[in-house]
Amino acid sequence: MLKKYADIIIDISHEAIDRTFQYIIPENLQGELEVGMQVVVPFGQGNRRRKGFVINITDEAEYAPDKMKEISEIADKGLKMEGKLIKLAGWLRTNYGSTMINAINTVMPVRETVRKTKQKVSEDPVEILKEPVTTLTDAQKNLVEEFENDQQAGKQNIYLIHGVTGSGKTEVYIQCIKNVIRQGRQAILLVPEIALTYQSVARFRQHFGDRIGVINSKQSKGEKCQVFMKAKDGELDVIIGPRSALFAPCRNLGLIVIDEEHDGAYKSDQTPKYHARDVAVKRAEIESAALIMGSATPTLESYTLAKQGIYRLWELPARPGQMELSETSVVDMRTELRQGNRSIVSRQLYELMADRLQKKEQIMLFINRRGYNTFVSCRECGEAIRCPKCDVTLAVHNNGYMYCHYCGYSIKQPSECPKCKSKLIGGFGTGTQKVEAEIKKLFPEAKILRMDKDTTTKKGDYSKIINSFLKREADILIGTQMIVKGHDFPGVTLVGVMLADLSLFANDFRAGEKTFDLITQAVGRSGRSEKGGHAVIQTYRPDNYAIALAANQDYREFYENEMAYRRMMKYPPVYNMMVILMTSENYDELYRESENIKKQVEQFVNHLSAGRDTRIIGPSDATIGKINNIYRRVIYIKSPDISVLFRLRDAVEGQEYTGTNLITDINPVNMY
Ligand code: ADP
Ligand code: ZN
Ligand code: ZN
Repeated sequence: MLKKYADIIIDISHEAIDRTFQYIIPENLQGELEVGMQVVVPFGQGNRRRKGFVINITDEAEYAPDKMKEISEIADKGLKMEGKLIKLAGWLRTNYGSTMINAINTVMPVRETVRKTKQKVSEDPVEILKEPVTTLTDAQKNLVEEFENDQQAGKQNIYLIHGVTGSGKTEVYIQCIKNVIRQGRQAILLVPEIALTYQSVARFRQHFGDRIGVINSKQSKGEKCQVFMKAKDGELDVIIGPRSALFAPCRNLGLIVIDEEHDGAYKSDQTPKYHARDVAVKRAEIESAALIMGSATPTLESYTLAKQGIYRLWELPARPGQMELSETSVVDMRTELRQGNRSIVSRQLYELMADRLQKKEQIMLFINRRGYNTFVSCRECGEAIRCPKCDVTLAVHNNGYMYCHYCGYSIKQPSECPKCKSKLIGGFGTGTQKVEAEIKKLFPEAKILRMDKDTTTKKGDYSKIINSFLKREADILIGTQMIVKGHDFPGVTLVGVMLADLSLFANDFRAGEKTFDLITQAVGRSGRSEKGGHAVIQTYRPDNYAIALAANQDYREFYENEMAYRRMMKYPPVYNMMVILMTSENYDELYRESENIKKQVEQFVNHLSAGRDTRIIGPSDATIGKINNIYRRVIYIKSPDISVLFRLRDAVEGQEYTGTNLITDINPVNMY
């Protein structure tokens, strides 16, 4: 029989887990031993019996097998909590690349050694002006009952709630979580960005009090550890946080909820570049827990699985009670221009704003760019002012400076063209600051708040703005995507999308989907009281299907259109796609190396997948060809078979490249 070996960590409670020890797997344990299991091994000079966890099983001996000891026995056939997380780490490594140690550090980011840290779990309070919901609508009740029946039958399903904005998804989460808590189990609730969801956290507090633990990215290791250890000790029922909260070591996990399932923040930007949605599916399986995902605009990936019956599809097509979805209108800004309106505010939006201000109702204006102008260019020579370190233009801010939004480089705004010295230079493109300035001119009496990266640099800034707007201390809230996510402002009866096209121009196969999501979410902020609402979508491309269908709030039609495009182009979720990003300070070297890598990729593909339909695109410069003086080139590979991409990834990552760094990302959420 072929000898097999196991890599074992003896003690995971210490920082130094990167030390593993290899043992021979005795024949009687082969086939039975799994990654994540706890074993007993002889350790050290005296061969003392110690417990350890198996983190890897391999055919290859690290050193001479006759010097290697054998595993004594399996200590525990059921996986312990740590074992389950180690098993999850093993899955992460296979699916996303990275070393096992890196994967373990991802699933166990805090160790017990930092347990003594003093606690201040720091949370920005957001006031709630509403009473908790007491009776569910019939639609909500049906879903909760189905969940309860499944639980009683021991069925741990995956559910996808497709519910229009404001349809009461959160209430369904709350009732399902209560159900698992009654069974003595715990729940994890993932949210895209905790700072933007204090309103939901506050609602959860109404129901679960101090049995909630909140994780956020600004916490220290020690603070995070406090929450994790309480989850482990069973002192918490619900853990709420961003994607890393998925690894909370709950002692008895019964349910994972992923709110706003479509959000790009669920994909990690660090190796291993995991997608929390996929990891949640795996963790739920390992823990025998249920999984509920919810969105008004589910990803094509999840909706496809739901349509295939792999996930249970739960629909909430209407808002509770008297609340209707907003009326929407699409305004063609080309017509405005032709008819002499050069303002960034269309006549219809202007009239509706005047009406709302007069009635003391609230308005939200959304634009997906911060700053004042997005670029400055010269009318004489045509030159645009660019960042010297990045392949992008500098944005104008209203403090007299220009900024690179990629590397932070800044200069004083020049009064003449740096190239031809002409004074005829000017700013173009609209950001949040310009919208604010224009609205002040049009409506000098209105009280305005602005929320974007520049107004939320300090802790507590978000909640200050949100609270102030909730209490109606302002009439108008202007902001970037931050303002369109999840908030529930009952006073808002008008939403303006200042320029719906902005996210369409990105060189990204998901651009249509992102545009549809953003507009749908923005429109969904309006009309959250019996007063009803209106949304005005300003665009230069009124016929674009993402814009037109978002205006109609027609997700299903959008899904069919978008899937047809993905099928035709062989993009995810129809095909799998891997990007190889190559970077270097030296462009010539990078160019040469990228051509070599392309040849290798071709060879691997021929070798791996004779007859399989795998396509290689590139190499070419990345969408942004240089960031912070580092040049970037990309190769894209599309294949129907994800295992081809896994093997290709392991092959290219296993090589050395001269002067060039290489990273890979499978099924990326953003193009490179
Ligand atoms: P979603 O998460 O789908 O956007 P929410 O759960 O935030 O929706 O609900 C939107 C609004 O509707 C909230 O203000 C909530 O309090 C209210 N709501 C939800 N369910 C009910 C219900 N059954 N009866 C009355 N109001 C409800
Ligand atoms: Zn010039
Ligand atoms: Zn820059």
